[in-house]
Amino acid sequence: MNIILAKPRGFCAGVTRAIETVERALTKFGPPVYVRHEIVHNKFVVESLRKKGAIFVSEVDQIPPGAITIFSAHGVSDRVEEDALVRGLDVIDATCPLVSKVHREAKKFEEEGREIILIGHRGHPEVEGTSGRVKKEVILVTSEEDAQNIQVKNPEKISYVTQTTLSVDDTKSIVTILEKRFPQMQQGLATKDICYATQNRQDAVRSLAKMVDVLLVIGAQNSSNSNRLRDLGEECGLASYLINGAEDVQKDWFVDVKNVGLTAGASAPEILVQEVIEKIRTLSSSPVMVSDMDGISENTFFVLPRKVRRD
Ligand code: SF4
Repeated sequence: MNIILAKPRGFCAGVTRAIETVERALTKFGPPVYVRHEIVHNKFVVESLRKKGAIFVSEVDQIPPGAITIFSAHGVSDRVEEDALVRGLDVIDATCPLVSKVHREAKKFEEEGREIILIGHRGHPEVEGTSGRVKKEVILVTSEEDAQNIQVKNPEKISYVTQTTLSVDDTKSIVTILEKRFPQMQQGLATKDICYATQNRQDAVRSLAKMVDVLLVIGAQNSSNSNRLRDLGEECGLASYLINGAEDVQKDWFVDVKNVGLTAGASAPEILVQEVIEKIRTLSSSPVMVSDMDGISENTFFVLPRKVRRD
């Protein structure tokens, strides 16, 4: 059996930065360091940081006044920032710069007097953060059906922003519907807010799907970009499984399978990929060959927040 590894896969620059921010804060200030929300959507990462002294909370009112507090890569609303300020928390913001860019864009549209459509998944922390960066209520569009049905106050003055980790294809379809309904809507590249890491991992799966019989995606159930990779595998006609790690791999997925595609979402560490490979080896009755597909190398890098930089 062959395992073909997607390229690129796994950690993106925003996730690397967020995890390093927590690790450096623990070293510099000593534990405990409080983190609002899972720093990234991966239990393995969260547990390893918890063991080093990070305490994960869902709201800032669970944090003692004055404590070192890190905001996760998904970003926060203005209200969360204000609550942290009132509580006197010592905040280090690990919001991915590409999410912060969407926040700035939404604020700019609001200043221009535009109504804002936000394309994204209801309840996702990034969507909550972006919605909470503008004063007026955003119009959330989660599907093509929403795009067909939403009502706006003034079709001449609307703009849209998106979550960074959406399906490229779904987003294009949604924006096409919106553009037809609202020809005066701010135009632009439909996928402009979808980050490079999401786009690259989806492109890699689309190519990988032509070479394999089954697709495994390592990622958390609440990881948006990982779910989109699994969805894409299914859209390409493959049996596709989203797994937390080696413990979820099942022998019957490989019956009559010659080529297995393996990828990892942007918040899943490489160690989990290696563990899954070892698990497949133990389940396979024939030798397992592992290779990387041809794919692009990423070199995006984000500087750390000032408070944890060494300079
Ligand atoms: S998936 Fe994209 S937006 Fe999210 S942390 Fe990574 S680079 Fe940033």
